[in-house]
Amino acid sequence: MAKIALVDCNNFFVSCEQLMNPSLKNRAVCVLSNNDGCVIARSAEAKEMGLPMGYPMFKARKEFKNVIYISRNFKLYHDISNRIIAKLLSYTPDVEQYSIDEAFLDLTGLKKLYRCSYEQIIEKIKYEIETEIGIPVSIGLAPTKTLAKLACETAKKDKTKNGLCYIRYQDINEILRRTCIEEIWGIGKNTAALFHKYGIYKCSEIVKQNDFWLKKIWGKRGLELKAELSGTSANPVNSRIELPKSIQKTSAFSHFTTDKEYIRNSLHYHTHQICSKLRKLGLQTEIIFVMLRTKDFRVIAEKIVLPEPSDSEFLINQYADKLFEKIYQNDIVYRSSGIFAEKLSEKAASQLFLFENEKIQKAKKLSMLWDNFEKKYGRNCFSIGTMQDPQAESKLHGQNYFS
Ligand SMILES: [Mg+2]
Repeated sequence: MAKIALVDCNNFFVSCEQLMNPSLKNRAVCVLSNNDGCVIARSAEAKEMGLPMGYPMFKARKEFKNVIYISRNFKLYHDISNRIIAKLLSYTPDVEQYSIDEAFLDLTGLKKLYRCSYEQIIEKIKYEIETEIGIPVSIGLAPTKTLAKLACETAKKDKTKNGLCYIRYQDINEILRRTCIEEIWGIGKNTAALFHKYGIYKCSEIVKQNDFWLKKIWGKRGLELKAELSGTSANPVNSRIELPKSIQKTSAFSHFTTDKEYIRNSLHYHTHQICSKLRKLGLQTEIIFVMLRTKDFRVIAEKIVLPEPSDSEFLINQYADKLFEKIYQNDIVYRSSGIFAEKLSEKAASQLFLFENEKIQKAKKLSMLWDNFEKKYGRNCFSIGTMQDPQAESKLHGQNYFS
């Protein structure tokens, strides 16, 4: 029988902010979305005050005056999330990151390795994340992902559980009898309404249905749901990282413009972002699109197939510049730009520096150097020419390191 754990960070964004600023602990705190539009995370105290998730900021400020509102800091949340994933990977390589603050772990068989019960393993994971990283978590453990998710919800809601809940195989039937179908992961309002139409309200009624009927009503997902609820894993923990099929970077300018250099630099900025992502994932691209959007929302785009796949902005920019020259017109006002990289492939290690001309080798080395600088000194620590974030209000005057 599989042993799947779901580790879910409590009020994750708020917990990260409290970690950085302990004076926020035990207070009503909310983290806000992009441009401080609405509430995207709440502390337990803010939830108790009745402040809803997704609530518009302008209303929240008027109605919940004693709450502390903080702008989001995704870089911080990603860094802390990476630390938590690294901790989970120290227990097992079978970790599937489901979202920034949730991950499934396949703990099957680890009881023998750690010479303790599964309850003790999840207790230890929780203790180590909370004491070593400083983020409170809830953990659900069960024979399948669907039941682990249910266990985790119980761990969060039921204060007597201390953030841990284990659904044993022998307890499944009893739990399904008291669980409504809409409490199950993946069953939304419409699916619940569909089952209600046939008089099915509790999970125990789903597992009683025959496969033929379930398949007719909800397709393959109906059969998977029945298996997952019965304790047979139909959706195993997938620790393989799915590689993207394409990468795109687009953004609107801080003001409408006809400025050719400004637009070209924005494209260089996008290319660098794409290339550093490609290098991080060990990928390269073969097709590049350059896109400009005019003030009146017309899209002009051109693509090029590179003579050979690349992950270097120093090479790709040469081709992107040619496309840009083709589509740019000095009497048109533009509002945004973008670069799309398609036909991505994994980079073979043997390709590195063998049979390549000096120019390609130099470009690759410079790109790697750039990554190392950014790792050490942060993003945009320097730039090529006047390359800049097109959304930045003030122009950065970058130094011409690579010319
Ligand atoms: Mg969470």
